[in-house]
Amino acid sequence: MPLIDNLLALYTVDRQVRSLRGRVESAQIYLRVQEKQIAAIDVEQSEVQQQLKQRKSNIALIETETGSIDERIVHLREELNHAVNDKQYSALLAEVNTLKERRKAFEEEELLEMGASEELQGRLTEISERVEERQKVVNSAKQDLETRENEVSEQLSELEEERAAAAALIPESTLEQFDSIADDFEGEAMAAIEVLDQKRKEYGCTSCSLQIPLDSITKMLGHPDDIVTCVSCDRILYLENETRELIASK
Ligand SMILES: [Zn+2]
Repeated sequence: MPLIDNLLALYTVDRQVRSLRGRVESAQIYLRVQEKQIAAIDVEQSEVQQQLKQRKSNIALIETETGSIDERIVHLREELNHAVNDKQYSALLAEVNTLKERRKAFEEEELLEMGASEELQGRLTEISERVEERQKVVNSAKQDLETRENEVSEQLSELEEERAAAAALIPESTLEQFDSIADDFEGEAMAAIEVLDQKRKEYGCTSCSLQIPLDSITKMLGHPDDIVTCVSCDRILYLENETRELIASK
């Protein structure tokens, strides 16, 4: 078979391989996006947990402080009962009042800490709901990927063998050229010639519509082992049988 026909055979199977791989790849990409999102939520969750831990330890510290103030007040009240003179009594009373003021300040601080904790707790609830939802999406994305992999794996290995067989018929440098064009254009490595105006002998590239010089058409007709590419879109050009016949008919 002429090179151009071998290339067309490769082109056909190459596109099938790419399309099957593409189905698996798009499922992989989707899964990766979902996993990234869940990782971002995890970071957010541990930040909020850290903040909540800090608030709770603040509350514990405040409670230790108010506890020791309370003990001190109980002790002072006993001393008050046994005060020996007015001066001592007033001094003890003043200390009690000072401690009561300090206790009040601690209580206010504790209220603020508790309010903040409650808010953080609420955020954690909301975050874990989001994690749960996202986890469901990740699970179904995993399942979808697995299903697709199973669906295509057998067909893909058959097609890959076919592709290898088709590629083996192509000279190395031409194969490199083909692969590079196919990679650049998602498998669209080749383009057919269309007849724009048969009387005027005007022919174009079906991929980009550029008019192809008559010289190139003549070369394609006479030398099917030579590669002609479109100067505009780089595709390897080929003649379909009916186009070939149409051109030859005149
Ligand atoms: Zn073109």
